[in-house]
Amino acid sequence: MAKPDQTWYAATAVAAPERPALSHNIDVDVCVIGAGLVGLTVAREVARRGWSVAVLDAGKVAGGASGRNGGFVSPGFAERIDAIVERVGLPRAKELWALSEAGVDYIRGVIADTAMPGVELRDGRLSVRRTDDETGLIEHVAMLRVDFDVDVEAWPTDQVREVLRSGHYFQALHFMKAFHIHPLNYALGLAADAEKHGARIFEGTQAIGLDPAGVRKRVQTPHGLVRARHVVLAGSTGIGAVDEQIVTTVLPVSSYVAVTAPLGEKLFDAVRYTGSVADTRRASDYYRIVGDDRLLWGGRITTRTSAPPRLKAQMRRDILKVYPRLGDIEIEYAWVGTMAYAVHKMPQIGELAPGYWLANAFGGHGLNTTAMAGEMIAHAILDGDDRWRLFSSYELVWGGGRFGRAAAQAAYWTMQARDSLQERISRYRDRARRESEARQARWAAEKTARKVEAEARRAAEEAKRIADAEARRLAAEQARRVAAEKARLAKEEVERIRQERVQAAEEARRAEEEAARVAAEQALNDAADAAAALARQIEEHSALTAPTPEPTVTETAPAVEAETPAPAAPPKRARKVRLSKKKKNEVSEETPAT
Ligand SMILES: Cc1cc2nc3c(=O)[nH]c(=O)nc-3n(C[C@H](O)[C@H](O)[C@H](O)COP(=O)(O)OP(=O)(O)OC[C@H]3O[C@@H](n4cnc5c(N)ncnc54)[C@H](O)[C@@H]3O)c2cc1C
Repeated sequence: MAKPDQTWYAATAVAAPERPALSHNIDVDVCVIGAGLVGLTVAREVARRGWSVAVLDAGKVAGGASGRNGGFVSPGFAERIDAIVERVGLPRAKELWALSEAGVDYIRGVIADTAMPGVELRDGRLSVRRTDDETGLIEHVAMLRVDFDVDVEAWPTDQVREVLRSGHYFQALHFMKAFHIHPLNYALGLAADAEKHGARIFEGTQAIGLDPAGVRKRVQTPHGLVRARHVVLAGSTGIGAVDEQIVTTVLPVSSYVAVTAPLGEKLFDAVRYTGSVADTRRASDYYRIVGDDRLLWGGRITTRTSAPPRLKAQMRRDILKVYPRLGDIEIEYAWVGTMAYAVHKMPQIGELAPGYWLANAFGGHGLNTTAMAGEMIAHAILDGDDRWRLFSSYELVWGGGRFGRAAAQAAYWTMQARDSLQERISRYRDRARRESEARQARWAAEKTARKVEAEARRAAEEAKRIADAEARRLAAEQARRVAAEKARLAKEEVERIRQERVQAAEEARRAEEEAARVAAEQALNDAADAAAALARQIEEHSALTAPTPEPTVTETAPAVEAETPAPAAPPKRARKVRLSKKKKNEVSEETPAT
């Protein structure tokens, strides 16, 4: 069970030594006021070169924003890059960007070089939009790549929603070289390394006064004085009486962080990206997976520096607004962290007076920029490196004091309201676009179905037409075959009839010949009969009229015999001739006309 106001970072911090408060006067080369990330980086760098360093902190190492933040390490500044270009011009902006990248590299390098424990470095960062602006995103990516040579990708909405399963998100920038860490363990690692090189860190030691004049500057604490050639003011918003002028140049701005109890599988159902995620609103949500399956969620900006009542419930609501699918979640840790913003939202880095250095106002982009500033100031002290002058365009500007805070709060509220309106419009447009896409898809599907149906109908009609034509062709062929067969049969019939006729004609001819022959035969017979009859009559007559001597009759008989036809055929033959005639008539009746 977490103690009230205990951070998850403190609960999972690596072991650190007890560090005493300063209880006597000391002399050092460099005195750093503030053991946050910028102060520790300066101390480590200076100590590594063998210079003596004392670090004073009113509380504990990284007890401020440095040990309570989101843990995102990425290039850039709290101010937008286009605003920087507008203010300092592209060439100077490029140099500043390169320094911010050097800060990222510095952290990665220190972690590797010191084999820093408990840092849990994980790669990648998504800077995700809550309003739909594909064109704006592409232009921005092009500008980052071309003008600043940044390793960055543009992710379209679908790709984003694949890994961040929330309808609140649209396109995103993916910074491949960015990463996230356990910031408290990183700060403790820096402190340990600085101490290893001889730096002395005093916790519970507030600087309450400063005399920056002269070669040896004097820093007053409740129980000891520090005399140093260089003093670095790295106390962020807590400087107070040390330099009241500087205090007025920064606005303390707070943000809240919560860490859930372990969520198990349902976390990966909602968040499948293991890098860090932040949206692009002024008061953005920023989150990442920590431990094995916890969600670390940061958000909200306020000028109030203490935790509000019911902070856990508020953070839980914020998480579920974006990921309702997480359902019932428990917030185990919730805390507030306060950082310093300058009016221009850029770090304030520089030499205020000889040997008197300022490094503050890193805003919400302080991991890389504190590394950058710490390293730069250390080398300015050690080697006279004057890269810090690149920040001279961002000089100290009065932050407005108490009224400034009220104005800042009002400005944040206005910006939040504007962001929220923009989001609502974007979500409405997105919903409308998706509905319209769904409608279009439905119409397209219906159109396709209709087209397919029409094509199927046309194909069926065509098939039927082809089948009909084929059937007709087959029928015609069949008909042709039948007709040919009929013709053949008819021809055969004609031939047969013709043969029959020829045969009949032949028979008729033979019958006629037979008849003629019979008739001739009959005629001969008849003539013979007539001759015989005549002869008989003559004989009878002769017998009646005169006795006829025997030789006379004998002499005339041969003459008659010569002219008389042969004796008549028996009656049977005459009947045969008549039958043949009848048959002839029957044949001619049956023969068809040709
Ligand atoms: C909630 C939150 C989330 C953030 N998330 C990110 C993030 O994800 N990525 C990122 O890049 N940045 C982030 N930041 C910003 C980043 O954490 C800060 O910009 C950075 O840590 C500032 O470091 P610093 O050393 O200047 O200040 P601090 O860490 O605040 O350190 C200042 C130290 O000075 C000490 N001090 C002050 N006055 C005195 C005095 N008079 N005498 C002695 N000691 C004194 C304080 O006790 C303190 O320890 C976040 C900030 C907050 C608050």
